[in-house]
Amino acid sequence: MLRFFPAILILLSGLGFGMPAAGQSGTAAKPDLVLRKTIRYTDYHHLMSIPFDVPAGTVRISMRFSYTGQEQRTALDMGIQGPEGFRGWSGGDKDGFTLSLADATPSYLPGPISPGRWRLLLGVPNIRPGVVSEFSAQVYFDRSVAEEMRDPLLQLRVRSGPGWYRGDLHMHTAHSDGACKSQNGRMVPCPLFRTVEDAAARGLDFIAITDHNTESHYDDERELQPYFDRVLLMPGREITTYQGHANLFGTTRFLDFRIGTDEVPNLNAMLRRVSGLGGIISINHPAAPSGENCMGCGWLPESTVDYHLIQAVEVVNGRNADGARSGVGFWEKLLNEGNHLTAIGGSDNHDADIAIPGPGSIGYPTTVVYADNLSTPAILDGIRAGHVFVDTEGTRDRLLEYSATAGGHTAMMGDALEVKDNASIHISVHVKGADGARLALIADGVEQPATPEMTIHGNDVRTALDVAGSTAHMWIRLEVRNDAGHRLLIGNPVYLSH
Ligand SMILES: [Zn+2]
Ligand SMILES: [Zn+2]
Repeated sequence: MLRFFPAILILLSGLGFGMPAAGQSGTAAKPDLVLRKTIRYTDYHHLMSIPFDVPAGTVRISMRFSYTGQEQRTALDMGIQGPEGFRGWSGGDKDGFTLSLADATPSYLPGPISPGRWRLLLGVPNIRPGVVSEFSAQVYFDRSVAEEMRDPLLQLRVRSGPGWYRGDLHMHTAHSDGACKSQNGRMVPCPLFRTVEDAAARGLDFIAITDHNTESHYDDERELQPYFDRVLLMPGREITTYQGHANLFGTTRFLDFRIGTDEVPNLNAMLRRVSGLGGIISINHPAAPSGENCMGCGWLPESTVDYHLIQAVEVVNGRNADGARSGVGFWEKLLNEGNHLTAIGGSDNHDADIAIPGPGSIGYPTTVVYADNLSTPAILDGIRAGHVFVDTEGTRDRLLEYSATAGGHTAMMGDALEVKDNASIHISVHVKGADGARLALIADGVEQPATPEMTIHGNDVRTALDVAGSTAHMWIRLEVRNDAGHRLLIGNPVYLSH
């Protein structure tokens, strides 16, 4: 029997097998229940169970185990049984677990969390004569969304410190219509690990795998995240309706997508549930055609949409940064109607075999988010705030950052700037990796005359623009374009108030 010793158990606990390790989560979670058992030599090689009751309304059970006597080689095995039967066994190799309808720590079985009598299974493979070991299990029942936010999958911090983090927010695997070549060269449902491997090889900091409407991929993600500990796996889903597609990020809870049924009478009814789940939602490929080639792909709502319920728009889907398939025009029209929506991008990759980097591959385009750290809550906050630019070709190093100053106040992209008395606006710009390309200043959807010289000379350039007399523009933003006018970098607006 393979046995891990305490040092390894401590290491594993930091990787999100059980509840968040100290310092990982902002929540100082107090357990709902603590189960205790004193183990003596008379228990050697015995199997026992500790009953406990799961309250109605519980959607996730998590436990963290600990026991004394490990330095004297006491070893305990753990498992769990629900009202319907066996739900998993981790022996002595894990210090906790979590399980819900859709996902569970490896060794444990996802499935319905029935209220009623459950049993913690406990075995004693070793205890020395004369040794007394105290076992305890901290038990957490998640009923509310706030309690679910303790989940290590949502709270994991892959890297500390503020910075620009690069990711892909749209891709598909075997859990929906993602396909790639098998060992024998047949196209088969593409296992999720291939997507994560590509993202890691691509050097991305975060990804959201967004299979259509389902939550079945979170179980794989829970297994893969501890191994891929440089890539944040943000929970994602493509909410796929007959009126359009929208990506949901940051929650593992079910969102009912069946618009037009008694449960979800219209689009707004669905959107209103998103903030209650702690997530954000983004309209996907709004300029895509609809019809028999791509059913429901375009954004064709059949009722009035409250755009305050939406946080972002996918302005670049795959290679569509320019032209009729670009989402930029749709997004700018919404901005001009007074909405604050963050432009993001997503590859919509359906085949992990597509060579990286290149059109259609994972990370093409890349969404670059300024976040306090590399965790799901921080990336979501960065997107909500509009601290985002889109690198349409998914390079590893192109950068577009800017801030606007007027009347002594400064705002970075995504933020609001008060401009009084028609004051001029000074924009400080930092561009990397775009030698020879050109800056474009856009106000309320219209490109403004170039002042002064807008060509970028060099690979790491700091420059400034002055916009004389702010008139009554609602927003300004920058893009970087190549000679042919192709968008390389798309910046989010600074919102102006007068
Ligand atoms: Zn779609
Ligand atoms: Zn998609």
